[in-house]
Amino acid sequence: MKKALVTGGCGGIGEAICKKLANDGYYIYINYAHSKDKAEKLAAETGGTALCFDVSDNEAVRSAINEIGRPDLLVNNAGISEIDLFTSISPEKADRILNINLRGAMNCARAVLPEMIRAKCGNIINISSMWGQCGASCEVDYSASKAGLIGFTKALAKEVAPSGIRVNCIAPGFIMTEMNKRFSEEELELIREEIPLGIFGTPMHVAEAVAFMASDRAEYITGQILAVNGGMVI
Ligand code: NAP
Repeated sequence: MKKALVTGGCGGIGEAICKKLANDGYYIYINYAHSKDKAEKLAAETGGTALCFDVSDNEAVRSAINEIGRPDLLVNNAGISEIDLFTSISPEKADRILNINLRGAMNCARAVLPEMIRAKCGNIINISSMWGQCGASCEVDYSASKAGLIGFTKALAKEVAPSGIRVNCIAPGFIMTEMNKRFSEEELELIREEIPLGIFGTPMHVAEAVAFMASDRAEYITGQILAVNGGMVI
């Protein structure tokens, strides 16, 4: 049975990814940092294992990945966001965004790669954002972290392709999850009007793209950014 590790695996998008991959026959390791009950419930539902570590803590990442052995698929999905002016956000919050969103993904990839390279196969999918492609005012640190994931995807894809490992990126648009609960009804309506397809994305829209990139249907695709955004950024 193929094994997948999904970071932030019981958040809005992570849960949909875990359910979709479990349905596709993967054994799932559901990483979480705080949401123990949710992760354990999802593990029971999907027949997987809940795994607690903070992706920004390199030592914790290494020891968790040592414990589970080589996953066939790593989905770097854990992420946080913060809305504030670039000049007002505290240095601690700004560091946290980069440390979780970008360094966290790099920590996890660095920990799984030696075994993937030895096996000459593997698949890494990074969850970026449309804001990493085009930038968002008042989310400068977040946008920079997500743009960093795009650069990381492209460079790593080139480096590990000779070892039979694919690295791709999904850039979701506006997806209805906890992350967007802070917007008022009026704000949501204004955002919806900006989406050419006229509807918000769902976690399952992102999960379907992940499942495709993970599958052999995408065996000749590496280093690419697949936008799932209803046409908001083209
Ligand atoms: P969410 O519901 O808030 O989930 C975020 C997940 O990240 C949670 O499971 C959380 O786990 C985990 N996480 C946070 N800090 C962590 C850490 N230090 N170590 C390990 N896990 C950590 O958000 P979401 O909307 O599903 O977002 C998932 C990903 O999609 C993020 O990378 C986000 O940037 C990206 N994205 C979202 C949207 C959107 O519109 N929703 C759009 C574009 C991109 P705990 O609860 O255990 O802390």
